[in-house]
Amino acid sequence: MDELLKELHELEEMMLQCMKCGTCQSDCPLYRTDGRESSVARGKISLLQSVYEGRIENAGRILKHLDQCLLCTRCLKACPSGVKTDEIFLRGREVLRRIKKLPKWQKLILKTAMEKPELMARMAPLMHMGLKFGSKKIKDGIYRPMIPGLGGRNVVEIKSEAFVKKYGGLNRADNEIMRVVFYPGCAVNLIYTEWGTAVVEVLRHFGVSVYVPETNICCGIPAASMGELEMYRNAVKANYDALAVYKDAAYIITSCPTCRYGLYEMGPKQTGAECPLTVVDILVFLEEILSVRLQTGAEGRSTIHFPCHYQDSKKGLVENFVRSSTNTEYMKLDNQSCCGFAGTFSIKYYERSKGFSRSKIEEMKDKKTDKVYIPCPGCAMQLADAAAREGLDAEVTHPVTELYNFIKEIK
Ligand code: SF4
Ligand code: SF4
Repeated sequence: MDELLKELHELEEMMLQCMKCGTCQSDCPLYRTDGRESSVARGKISLLQSVYEGRIENAGRILKHLDQCLLCTRCLKACPSGVKTDEIFLRGREVLRRIKKLPKWQKLILKTAMEKPELMARMAPLMHMGLKFGSKKIKDGIYRPMIPGLGGRNVVEIKSEAFVKKYGGLNRADNEIMRVVFYPGCAVNLIYTEWGTAVVEVLRHFGVSVYVPETNICCGIPAASMGELEMYRNAVKANYDALAVYKDAAYIITSCPTCRYGLYEMGPKQTGAECPLTVVDILVFLEEILSVRLQTGAEGRSTIHFPCHYQDSKKGLVENFVRSSTNTEYMKLDNQSCCGFAGTFSIKYYERSKGFSRSKIEEMKDKKTDKVYIPCPGCAMQLADAAAREGLDAEVTHPVTELYNFIKEIK
């Protein structure tokens, strides 16, 4: 215990930067739903300080409050004192997780997902079959599992073939101008494989050859969010080693902002190692590096859900992209809150996470939205579930799929 308290004490310098001003209250999605001081960054920092100052004996109890944090980083962006809340909470979770250990079966599943990526890919056909037999199809690509324990959640189809199985290797472009690596992440590799296809084919269309790793190694964020920070560090280092072999690639492209955050922003801070290449989101790459201009035929009323980990400075770019690449009428959402997916949050606290997505879907219904553009697979899963549950008849997709559909038509 003394050792653990010493480790928490090491966070003191970062925690003392918190002036307890409360500015983070207005941005914390969790605090907005329950008004509890233990939900907001300031409260969590105070709780951690109480532990190492010896004012709270049952330190394991504090984990519950840290565990409920969405790791959305909104407090980090709002804080006038520059408190590194994400680093404090990740490290705090890690230390407290040693007191209150993860149940063995959960750790086994996590270890398999993190450390046996080839096994995960080989299991894809089994998961695909299991979902089809164990669920009721309620919409194209959306299923409702018959296991009541899943709480009536609607899940997006798991594909029978992992994306890297089909696209692993170099996907050459005619008239090559550049080479990049596409890092799909687990959700695109096994679920939104069509997003991966769209990324590769759109890039090839514009003369960019795309390396796809033969094996997708998880970015490690699910482990970090469960307090298993060492597993996360190992996943980041394994990815850096695997990505470093693409010596002639100019960038690493992602279509998941959380993977980008995990590999490129938090990864170097937690491992002390450097990511071998700059990691860029696909829309940012198309707009800022390739200056792509294409007008697809997509019509109707669209909106965009901005994922918490999407770079703030690039959100206007996504809006421009949708406005200039489609003929849809763009309806900006007043509710810019987190969708509630938040890594493992929606798995652990599904009832609570439903409240976050329900309010967003209600606004989409009011605005008669029939297309919801989401540049993040985790948010897309959460909002596709909510749309099916709340009766919103809208397509949930990544904007790059519009470009791909258009390119297929004109070819
Ligand atoms: S905004 Fe920053 S300094 Fe103010 S209470 Fe929150 S974490 Fe502390
Ligand atoms: S990371 Fe998000 S949920 Fe967690 S304390 Fe900060 S604002 Fe609240």
